[in-house]
Amino acid sequence: MKVIEHLAQAKETIISLEVLPPTKGKGIESLNKNLDLLMEFKPAFVNVTYHRAEQVFKKRNDGSFERVEIRKRPGTVGICAAIMNRYKVEAIPHLICGGFSKEETENALIDLHFLGLNNVLALRGDAAANEKFFNPHPHGHRYAEDLVRQVMELNRGHYLEDEIMDGIKTDFCVGVAGYPEKHFESPNMDVDVDFTKRKIDLGADYVTTQMFFNNEHYFNYLKRCKEHGMNVPILPGLKPLTTKGQLTILPKIFNVEVPVELCNEMNKTKNDADGDKVGTEWLLAQCKDLLKNKVPVLHFYTLGKPQVVYNVLKELF
Ligand code: FAD
Repeated sequence: MKVIEHLAQAKETIISLEVLPPTKGKGIESLNKNLDLLMEFKPAFVNVTYHRAEQVFKKRNDGSFERVEIRKRPGTVGICAAIMNRYKVEAIPHLICGGFSKEETENALIDLHFLGLNNVLALRGDAAANEKFFNPHPHGHRYAEDLVRQVMELNRGHYLEDEIMDGIKTDFCVGVAGYPEKHFESPNMDVDVDFTKRKIDLGADYVTTQMFFNNEHYFNYLKRCKEHGMNVPILPGLKPLTTKGQLTILPKIFNVEVPVELCNEMNKTKNDADGDKVGTEWLLAQCKDLLKNKVPVLHFYTLGKPQVVYNVLKELF
């Protein structure tokens, strides 16, 4: 079922999760263990992130270096299929522009269609680890909106090869990213929202937000999106913040503010258990407020902290 259909049918706030594929060489067991724990809350869908290949230098026997491409977390599509098979819930692969030609993207979409996956989250992706700015593949897309356009074309049965007449129409429901505190490259919020709106105008069905730790950012974002004429569901992305280190790492990586009260409480912690407690209480308070405001979904970036998300959900439902 498509995300948009889940949202239309839901009588109350639904739960969704985001997970990462395991690093190469590791099995799927730990991912299954985490999801086994959280299935009690009947998530409507599980997003699976996509990780672009990185260029690394490997030392040869003669002492020289060669540049090789490695993908540390392969398997997004396989994991989606495994999740759907094991849990009978929708799995949503993330698709990124970075590192992909349009043809590779088309082939990936055809694979997804054949597997019966009809939800995707269309993203640009970040710059490669060895680059300062995002550089598209020479035959790929520069912005997520171009990727949305390609998916929509396939939904109309239009393939890259003009010779394909009456091509089978895919039926993807497309989500895109939104930033309650602005994407770090945007000059201001209005420009940022306008670019997000372009993705919606091209046919994307809903927005999933970057994490935020102050609900006011989310509520202001909803208001601003409405003012800009965006009328699709905007799903709040929530992450447990459980360590002192994250107080500096998360703002740096994701351009998000950590409220003073959360910083103060986290700075008092002496061990992991204290950190989990502070993170649980903060996330719980955020969720209660969001539920009070009847948000369509609570979307959890479960990443490494499924137990914290479990404890929060146990308290809520
Ligand atoms: P875009 O919508 O293309 O926007 C990128 C920047 O360009 C923004 O500043 C925007 O304002 C600007 N812009 C957009 N269109 C135009 C235009 N036409 N002209 C000029 N400027 C424009 N990354 C991954 O690698 N893998 C993942 O699985 C992943 N999952 C994510 C899930 C969510 C919910 C979110 C919020 C982010 C995720 N990301 C992921 C990170 C995301 O790829 C980065 O934030 C990336 O820097 C931007 O992606 P985007 O899709 O928002 O890009």
